[in-house]
Amino acid sequence: MTDVTIECIQGNIAHQPDMDAVVNAANAQLMPGGGVAGAIHAAAGPGLAEECRAKAPIKPGEAVITAAHDMPNSYIIHCLGPVYGVDNPSDQLLAGCYRNALKLAKQEELESVAFPAISTGVFGYPLEDALGIAVQTLREASPACPRLRRLRLVLFSDDDLRVCQAILDRT
Ligand code: ADP
Repeated sequence: MTDVTIECIQGNIAHQPDMDAVVNAANAQLMPGGGVAGAIHAAAGPGLAEECRAKAPIKPGEAVITAAHDMPNSYIIHCLGPVYGVDNPSDQLLAGCYRNALKLAKQEELESVAFPAISTGVFGYPLEDALGIAVQTLREASPACPRLRRLRLVLFSDDDLRVCQAILDRT
């Protein structure tokens, strides 16, 4: 019997101070970029890119963990999502991101992790499909993490939040 809640909120993934870890929708080189990666590197400061250099590159579906540097969290978990329709099978690679992120959360005995909607920005994954995979994979994988209590999906817009809430409500 597990006791993990999954919630979704509208917000900025770089401003989730009450979570043990936040997840970065990273690029293969784990370097600053646009979207989520830009916001996280800006908030974490230059020490993050320095630490990331030794851990890159990563492949689609993989996850690595670093310190949070200037961010208020304990860790940042970096996932490389699939480029939709290019990195195949995109659905399995996307599920792998969430599964591998939770493996790292288990290893570090984390109680709370916040995720952005991985691959749904420049990587082009249709939002509803991507969030369906996110919710299903988090539900399947979280019982294996005994310390885990709270998972949060952070959506950037109110429209995206409504899509996510509908998926959580019906599944
Ligand atoms: P990817 O390259 O994996 O597609 P992006 O960073 O381009 O990653 O976007 C992933 C999702 O995160 C998109 O839905 C985008 O709207 C959203 N997003 C962008 N910036 C932020 C942020 N600061 N906090 C939360 N979500 C964000």
